[in-house]
Amino acid sequence: MELELMKGDITQIHVDAIVNAANSGLMGGGGVDGAIHKAGGPEIMAECRLIRERQGGCPTGEAVLTTSGLLPAKNLIHTVGPIWKGGNNDEKTKLQSCYLNSLKLAEEHQLSTIAFPNISTGVYGYPKSEAAEVAVNAVKSFKSKSLSKVIFVCFDDENHQIYAQLLSE
Ligand code: ADP
Repeated sequence: MELELMKGDITQIHVDAIVNAANSGLMGGGGVDGAIHKAGGPEIMAECRLIRERQGGCPTGEAVLTTSGLLPAKNLIHTVGPIWKGGNNDEKTKLQSCYLNSLKLAEEHQLSTIAFPNISTGVYGYPKSEAAEVAVNAVKSFKSKSLSKVIFVCFDDENHQIYAQLLSE
């Protein structure tokens, strides 16, 4: 699996799936979630609503797949990152699960390319360096079959610098 780093807006990326840093109600919100729903249109929220009715949303650390609506990506995976509460509340395990469960779901759909935002490092307050280390290690530990490329999409300079350093090691 090839690991790639990009800087910019994940809604513009042409891959088999982009990942959304959603909330457990799948209700939309600010940050990357807001940008994805805005760019992808109402079809995404309609499917989120069905998932909410069926299974009550998406627990922290898990992932669900929906249509990507008007986005250039072919599929959309919603995962729910942990809210940072100081680090002793299973935040690391939950963040690892976000990456691993998203990758697993992509494999179940025979996808070959996937792009991740920096889950939990916005409003959810996970320290950026620690989150990047968890993300890169989780992806590197994953034994892929269909997946050939994973792209880390950084929106802010700080995350981009952290990932550039980590991926060059
Ligand atoms: P969380 O609630 O999981 O912290 P946020 O959306 O607040 O989610 O932030 C997660 C990360 O997504 C942050 O690093 C933020 O800079 C980044 N981000 C915000 N908008 C976009 C976008 N359009 N494309 C890619 N990343 C984005």
